[in-house]
Amino acid sequence: MLKGRYYRGFATGIPASAGRLAGFAKAFDMHVINPFRQASYVLSAHQLRQLPPDEGIEVAIAGRSNAGKSSAINVLTDQKSLARTSKTPGRTQQIVIFELDERRRIADLPGYGYAKVPHKLKAHWQQVMQRYFETRRCLRGVVLVMDIRHPLKPFDENMLAWCDAAGLPCHILLTKADKLKRGPAQATLLKVRKALPPGATAQVFSATRRTGLEDLIILLRQWYGYDDSPPGNGVGDSGGQVL
Ligand code: GDP
Repeated sequence: MLKGRYYRGFATGIPASAGRLAGFAKAFDMHVINPFRQASYVLSAHQLRQLPPDEGIEVAIAGRSNAGKSSAINVLTDQKSLARTSKTPGRTQQIVIFELDERRRIADLPGYGYAKVPHKLKAHWQQVMQRYFETRRCLRGVVLVMDIRHPLKPFDENMLAWCDAAGLPCHILLTKADKLKRGPAQATLLKVRKALPPGATAQVFSATRRTGLEDLIILLRQWYGYDDSPPGNGVGDSGGQVL
């Protein structure tokens, strides 16, 4: 009966974690609306001043090259090639902005850790990223994509430290979970969770199997404030389509 309907009424005002909401939705066989299907490409910035005005809500997606960031974005937005899944990782060093609506954006941060990027360029981007984290006021949180088989590399630790310093929530996607059996995947999740600073969370994910997609959407809906206000005033509009 409730199938296919969004559960805004239940979610509003409940100070529950995304995980509990996901469980709630599943228990009642309700489907989550995915507003990220509306994402469209806006621009690619080589410098911070090329970014859209620092207003509204931005969520950044970061990860080492080849971790599976583009695939995660494509699955999240249900668009096959919105973020390019590249065979030459780390080639493009730019911040790519996708828009959900005029006040909500995804910032696809440059893949980092790719050995073939010249040292000077790496150092430059390290600085740009640090400044982005320190100054971007509309930044609501960071989704940090890691290959579940190679979690918490030095670059990831760096990113976590920046989030921690900026007081930003960081949500880790342990992706390519389909490459591991359930037991080892859960063991890695527990290990990673134990190592995280306060304010950071983690989940397993697979772009190939869409594992964890619903949990991710529920968390991001909270970050973007889709569930904050009553229907019809424009800000809290659920938008998008059922997952
Ligand atoms: P990016 O460099 O972080 O954007 O990584 P991509 O999304 O381009 O993915 C790098 C490689 O990993 C590609 O060959 C993808 O097909 C593969 N990949 C990404 N996500 C998954 C996943 O969830 N499962 C599996 N098996 N492969 C994946």
